[in-house]
Amino acid sequence: MKNIILIAAPAAGKGTLSEMLVEKYGYAHISTGDLLRDASSEASELGQKIANMLKNGELVTDEIVFELLEKRLENKDTLKGYILDGFPRTLTQAKMYDELVKKLNRELGIVVVLNTSYETLKKRIVGRVLCKKCGSVYNTLTGVNAPKQEGICDKCGGELLKRSDDNETSFANRYQTYLEKTEPLIDYYKEKGNLFYINGENKEQMLEEIEALLHD
Ligand code: AMP
Repeated sequence: MKNIILIAAPAAGKGTLSEMLVEKYGYAHISTGDLLRDASSEASELGQKIANMLKNGELVTDEIVFELLEKRLENKDTLKGYILDGFPRTLTQAKMYDELVKKLNRELGIVVVLNTSYETLKKRIVGRVLCKKCGSVYNTLTGVNAPKQEGICDKCGGELLKRSDDNETSFANRYQTYLEKTEPLIDYYKEKGNLFYINGENKEQMLEEIEALLHD
């Protein structure tokens, strides 16, 4: 299976698309946001430092993220194909990753940009809730994918919680950071010739469009 790098603004649909690809094809899903949230719950000084950066919607340093990613890629489940969700987020990370891919003898794969409007992103962020137990994502504002029972996961009955960075202020920061730091990656990968766009507004369409690229 082709490895996939997803480039998108916060809440553009990376998590939802990844979930569908994991379910249908058995991809390994690597979300650097999830790796960081796990690391931030550790009681160490580093854990605290990460927690603060996440809360403010700031990017965590390239070194910390890269170390977590490298460790995750050592896991054999990534050999069959993996999705990078939320990485790379800066040009430095993209260049570091090119080296890592060579070192580990992996394929860069395809880079997919999700096009989603600003209004949709904001609603998704402010209304987003996640299952504490299984990580499933729901939304209480968009009218799409609302949990059947408020506060309870449809899939496993776990408790639904908001992420600490899913508020309007943090969203504004994260969106600005995306424009400044992450969007330049589009040109970087365009030059490499492995960049594709898909529409992130609609779940089913998103899956169809990425499948067309995977089966190409
Ligand atoms: P996400 O779950 O992808 O929305 O990421 C949540 C937060 O984790 C971001 O706002 C950043 O603070 C941090 N983060 C995730 N991935 C990266 C990365 N590749 N580089 C730096 N910070 C990251």
